[in-house]
Amino acid sequence: MNKRLVYLDHASTTPVDPRVVEAMQPYWSQVYGNTSSIHSVGRAALKALDEARQTVASVLGCHLTEVIFTGCGTESDNLAVRGAAYARRGHIITTPVEHHAVGATVEQLHERFHCDVTLAPVDADGRVNPDDIARAIRPDTVLISVMYANNEVGTLEPIAEIGKIAQAHKIAFHTDAVQAGGALDLNVNKLGVDLLALSAHKFYGPKGVGVLYIRRGTELAPALTGGGHERGRRPGTVNVAEIVGLATALRLAQESRESENTRVARLRDKLVAGVLQNVPDARLTGHPTERLPNSASMVFKDVDGESILLALDLEGICVSTGSACTTGETEPSFVLKAMGLPREWAIGSVRMTLGHLTTEADIDDVLSVLPTVVQRLRAQRA
Ligand code: PLP
Repeated sequence: MNKRLVYLDHASTTPVDPRVVEAMQPYWSQVYGNTSSIHSVGRAALKALDEARQTVASVLGCHLTEVIFTGCGTESDNLAVRGAAYARRGHIITTPVEHHAVGATVEQLHERFHCDVTLAPVDADGRVNPDDIARAIRPDTVLISVMYANNEVGTLEPIAEIGKIAQAHKIAFHTDAVQAGGALDLNVNKLGVDLLALSAHKFYGPKGVGVLYIRRGTELAPALTGGGHERGRRPGTVNVAEIVGLATALRLAQESRESENTRVARLRDKLVAGVLQNVPDARLTGHPTERLPNSASMVFKDVDGESILLALDLEGICVSTGSACTTGETEPSFVLKAMGLPREWAIGSVRMTLGHLTTEADIDDVLSVLPTVVQRLRAQRA
């Protein structure tokens, strides 16, 4: 029995970096003002908010006024997609592999508000073809929404290419960058995006705080109505401590991005190679190279992913099956279905996502346990 905890579920969430906890500390009980208050206590809070916004703007390569803080990645995605659709009713183009934060929002817009939606297909690696996006454009298209990196299989989408198409047609382009925040270049001009969503808890920041980048001139109806906070885009008294946490975490993640990506990709490759070598009928899912450096998403034929997860958990190893947000569903994940994976493979999906604290010893532990677990579960099914 492996007594050490091995956490390989960083796509679900990450531990808060102690440096982030420290940076947030003064903003609970010392600098506690309301950023809308004009007096000195309010001004002290506003200063921290302005600094955090500056940090985020410099990572995104955008203007201060284009950064809006929200309550989470889901809220940022909702605000982008629903906000664009409410501002200008029309046709939406997206993909079948988006996180529910986008997928369910688009579905609601279709069902309740009669927005036409086109789902551009993905290939067997989960990648959308920019030509399919271009072909789907209609005179009434108001929004294109394509995620930067897939939360389940780690595949990176060709955002910059789609950005050029969207710009040429003057259509608002949103990307859900929630899984990309700590690992990829977030420069909004290189990406050519008008709306970009982030969530702090995916890059060693606190839970319950997000960002929506809104390019100047993008028409967007606010989802919440109230005061004038966040330039009226997102009313509600501002959560200064968490926003300071988000900005600190984003800065730290981006500073160590290249070295950390190299480190985890090496461990990830060792993990994948070890599994493929020692477990028959196992496959990597998602694009072999155009993928998040920390993502090892795999499928095991004729075995249930949830059973693997539970068996690994008993050994102190935390992974997820498909997306953590859809845990509990017995059907194969909609992402793997959209990629055309046959059911006997797709039900056996296991997502292992590495992070800052992952060590070589963690990978060795998984490799010493996983082959036996899969073999045992297959024997039980036979
Ligand atoms: N988008 C993607 C791609 C995600 O992976 C997640 C969370 O798993 C979200 C959006 C939602 O973010 P949050 O948990 O901050 O609401």
